[in-house]
Amino acid sequence: METYLAYLHDAYQRELEATVVDRRPDAVALDRTIFYPTGGGQPHDTGRLHHGTAALGVTGVAKEGTVVWHHLDGPAPDVGAVVRCEIDWERRHQLMRAHSAMHVLCGVIWNEYGRAVTGGNMEPLGGRMDFEFDPLPEGFARHVNEAVNAEISADRPIEVSFLPRGQALADDALIRTKVNLIPDSVQVIRVVDIVGLDRQADGGTHVARTGEIGRFEIVKTESKGKGNKRVRIALS
Ligand SMILES: [Zn+2]
Repeated sequence: METYLAYLHDAYQRELEATVVDRRPDAVALDRTIFYPTGGGQPHDTGRLHHGTAALGVTGVAKEGTVVWHHLDGPAPDVGAVVRCEIDWERRHQLMRAHSAMHVLCGVIWNEYGRAVTGGNMEPLGGRMDFEFDPLPEGFARHVNEAVNAEISADRPIEVSFLPRGQALADDALIRTKVNLIPDSVQVIRVVDIVGLDRQADGGTHVARTGEIGRFEIVKTESKGKGNKRVRIALS
């Protein structure tokens, strides 16, 4: 059993008809979904499953192996039921803006300082990323704010493609972002390309152009130990 992940192909799809393929008292697995499950630093979507005249709230989404489970605020429909998925678009779009902003930030920090990202987490219109700095350079926040907002103003296209593993492993930009750590069992690598700025193997949802991200600001920097500096950002 495998859930088809429609959001990997179209992050702007807000509604989708799907069939219940497994159930628990308060959760269903679907044959396809537009709900993003928590992972890769991006939190899950919320929304509703419409079933007949009923609308069940989707309060959590988790991937277990190849199946996506949708946690509901009411009793789960039976296996075989056809439901209509509807995501909370405002939250999803804010998460898309935040995720794309993180990649712009990664690209800018690599271009300006040659430093790699070591971790990150996002929320609607914000998040944090850790970088291999020790210490942060003089004037870091001001300089990075200007450079990131210039990339946003440049309105670069953000393209999603699917590459055979061998081809991805031969791509310098993807090696830098550690595509080689993806398990061997994954033979097709999804690539998110901010054209001319940053290419990463990534399973998240992104806006279509950097101009859609909005205004970027570093709101805090802090040290998380030697060679690890945390950058908190906010969008408006
Ligand atoms: Zn990402």
